[in-house]
Amino acid sequence: MTEISRRSLVGLGLALPVLSQLHWAEATAATATGPVQIDYNESPWGPCATARQAMQAGIAQSGRYPYKAQYRLIDLFAEQHGLQPEQVQVFCGSKLALQHAVMAFTGPRSLVLAEPSYEAPAEAAQGFGTAVHAVALDKRHAHDIDAMLAADANPGLIYLCNPNNPTGTLTPRQDIERLLARKPAGSVVVVDEAYIHFSDAPSCLDLVKDHPELLVLRTFSKLYGMAGARLGLAIGQAPLLQKLELYDGENVAPASTLLGGLASLEDPNVVPQRKADNARLRDQTITWLGQRGWHCTASQANCFMIDLRQPAQPLVERMAREQVLVGRVWPSWPNWMRVSVGDEADMRRFREAFARVTAA
Ligand code: PLP
Repeated sequence: MTEISRRSLVGLGLALPVLSQLHWAEATAATATGPVQIDYNESPWGPCATARQAMQAGIAQSGRYPYKAQYRLIDLFAEQHGLQPEQVQVFCGSKLALQHAVMAFTGPRSLVLAEPSYEAPAEAAQGFGTAVHAVALDKRHAHDIDAMLAADANPGLIYLCNPNNPTGTLTPRQDIERLLARKPAGSVVVVDEAYIHFSDAPSCLDLVKDHPELLVLRTFSKLYGMAGARLGLAIGQAPLLQKLELYDGENVAPASTLLGGLASLEDPNVVPQRKADNARLRDQTITWLGQRGWHCTASQANCFMIDLRQPAQPLVERMAREQVLVGRVWPSWPNWMRVSVGDEADMRRFREAFARVTAA
């Protein structure tokens, strides 16, 4: 969703608490009693406890440029995944890395991506006047690799989101390997793993060492609950990352953000616990919907889509009037509504509101 349409929500009276205008305690209370926010694939749990402590400590260190914290984060991530530190680059959010990849690798050459999928790369490309080839997901709701390869004989960038946003569905590893083997020389493949922690799918990080034109993206915004702190990583061979660096030099993320990210990576419980909680709440909700005749995508992420068999946008708006923010709707799938997975209370309120609006 663009900034303009996000702003328009404020006009609907569905604004989030503005922290600069509210005491923190008031803001927390407002969130607890305010609308259910299951519309941006955020975490209902926020940063884990150790990340919160580290972020507090980061405030005191904020008088200095936090290069050391950034190098520690890079070193730890590289060590955890068998990478070289020069294969990991920090961004203030993976969306920024993606936008820089679009700038670096497309222009005269096109962007190929799936539809529906995360719109940020297509929006960035359209902003620069780059040709975009959107290829429908296949019957499994996986990326249709052969159709993507056929879309353009010489694209600049092929974007693959695994698990895919908004469907939450997976593209098998062998399909991604086939894409890497068959893509034209000079075409960069971006595998966006923003939601990989929620799934059992193997990561593509290990493919980086053998593929100089592969970029893998990771974010701390989803499972780690740090969307508001803005931290993402681009992983690729050093010469490829250097092409992204042209757009922001050796940038550094905020101290609190980096320390929160480090603490999240160091916490052995955060991934398994949140993955299990998310899967339980997602699967319970999908089962509840299935029992009432609603078909959902086979999600392995913290979002899924429901086939409403009728235009979805009016239902999204009716849900908003019930104080449950869901969505959005992708133009190519006008009857499907995306739902993010919140906490227990969020999903209970979702079920109650959904039962009311679909009975009406
Ligand atoms: N990639 C995907 C697939 C996403 O869905 C999102 C956010 O929704 C992002 C990247 C952006 O992540 P970040 O908050 O790190 O910029």
